[in-house]
Amino acid sequence: MMEKDAKIYVAGHRGMVGSAICRALEREGYTRLLTRTHEELDLCRQEQVEAFFAQEKPDYVFLAAAKVGGILANRDAPADFLYDNMILEMNVIHAAWQNRCRKLLFLGSSCIYPRMAPQPIREDSLLTSALEETNEAYALAKISGLKYCAYLNAQYGTDYISAMPTNLYGPGDNYHPTHSHVLPALIRRFHEAKEAGAGEVVCWGTGSPLREFMYVDDLADACLHLMQTYSGSETVNLGTGEELSIRELTELVAGVVGYTGKILWDSSKPDGTPRKLLDVGKLEDLGYHYTTKLKEGIRLTYQDFLAHPVRVER
Ligand code: GDP
Repeated sequence: MMEKDAKIYVAGHRGMVGSAICRALEREGYTRLLTRTHEELDLCRQEQVEAFFAQEKPDYVFLAAAKVGGILANRDAPADFLYDNMILEMNVIHAAWQNRCRKLLFLGSSCIYPRMAPQPIREDSLLTSALEETNEAYALAKISGLKYCAYLNAQYGTDYISAMPTNLYGPGDNYHPTHSHVLPALIRRFHEAKEAGAGEVVCWGTGSPLREFMYVDDLADACLHLMQTYSGSETVNLGTGEELSIRELTELVAGVVGYTGKILWDSSKPDGTPRKLLDVGKLEDLGYHYTTKLKEGIRLTYQDFLAHPVRVER
């Protein structure tokens, strides 16, 4: 059990996931959260990471730092996605182990599973066939992090766990016009079209791929739940177990934002994997079920979008 006064390091606390984990920890009464901005600590620099861990010696680590991006960003910069994520993960997990961190939760992504994995995707389909090409580099880095945790457990008896979230959305997302994920991209595009009185909005691909979305505060609750209840080297899927087509998603977002014009499709943009639904049976057996329905989550996210200046990352 994680004690309320344990020293807990949240790596990536300024990101959408890390900030939601910090909110959840504070709400639950954890008092000793440890965070560092990118300027204070570059997680891709091994000597900086080692010095930080040697000095602070956190009891628990949530590893939510990563270089992330949508389908085009991943397709266009595979070398950067592999290198940055691999180095960062290895540095943090290794330094945690060297400094006797009691438990670490490594966060990956559902894109680690084979493109043609049977749906809904179970944890044991990992490494059974080829990956989706558009995010292979990111997936390889995440699989390496997951395996490094598992190998440390096997070789040194650590209690390092990993979890693979489905597509996430919520406050603090990245609204880059081309490099963001689909949900923030749609919020921004429909909002701008509404403001401009535009009659048409162009979305990517064919609209037929199926995706699952989880609100980031639900994800954070699930992460705390795992830290408190789960040990084991097999990863745990984090999702809702529910899916919809990208076309249905566009209609939902347009409705929340109040955009009433036409929606067109640019099929020269990639669709990505046709379907990506997680089997969340293991998470539910561990006692967690999501709470925020998609429409309500989009409404909360749009409110956050309106309340803050648009956040744009590379
Ligand atoms: P993925 O789940 O790894 O494929 O990542 P994305 O969230 O980037 O894309 C999900 C799906 O939404 C893909 O089929 C995209 O082609 C589609 N999509 C439609 N419009 C957009 C958009 O404006 N931005 C992004 N990122 N995807 C879009």
